[in-house]
Amino acid sequence: MPTNPQDTTVLHALFGGTFDPIHYGHLRPVEALAAEVGLNRVTLLPNHVPPHRPQPEANAQQRLKMVELAIAGNPLFAVDDRELHRTTPSYTIETLEAIRKERGAALPLAFIIGQDSLLTLHKWHRWQSLLETCHLLVLARPGYNDRMDTPELQQWLEQHQVTDAALLSLQPQGYIYLADTPQLEISATEIRQRRHLGLDCDDLLPRSVQRYIELQGLYR
Ligand code: ATP
Repeated sequence: MPTNPQDTTVLHALFGGTFDPIHYGHLRPVEALAAEVGLNRVTLLPNHVPPHRPQPEANAQQRLKMVELAIAGNPLFAVDDRELHRTTPSYTIETLEAIRKERGAALPLAFIIGQDSLLTLHKWHRWQSLLETCHLLVLARPGYNDRMDTPELQQWLEQHQVTDAALLSLQPQGYIYLADTPQLEISATEIRQRRHLGLDCDDLLPRSVQRYIELQGLYR
């Protein structure tokens, strides 16, 4: 693993989520994306959910623990828990600006989102500034097409989209890449619902995370 932050030949990505719980719909497409575009590291960023928003069923510490269990022993992944320590709303753009500052201006950096998140990106705080800090890598997600919600978002996508993944390592930020990743029909909502109904979730998330959910009595 290169450690020199000025080494511009490597591509590091961040992947934010509530992870309530983390599941194979997060992990598998990101692993495929890493192979597709040459990511050497993906740092998972569990979200702080502000009090005025619907709260996750698992608390912050439990969501973090599930992420740690899911990535244990997998050198592709790391976790950054900075958003969980915040007491104020944490906007993705602010976290990305902080990380960009730490990493320096030259290192290529990317932020991963699912196709569903891309479709509503214009509702994010200062969404157009995202590309001033990083590239955007978009995972395919079943059930979501590629028609943007608004012409403004569609136009922004057309302006910044690239189809050649090699470009992503040549510039620190500014491109949008729609990846051809495997489509897994898995959501955290479905897992919570299955648990509420007493159904098994065997193929949906790692066994270590399932065991933790059992032990903690989550999603009952
Ligand atoms: P919930 O069902 O509770 O809304 P979720 O399964 O969508 O949760 P999140 O933690 O909210 O999971 O998602 C984090 C990121 O992962 C988002 O950008 C989302 O689009 C993406 N994502 C989640 N599940 C998938 C999937 N099956 N395929 C591709 N991307 C996904």
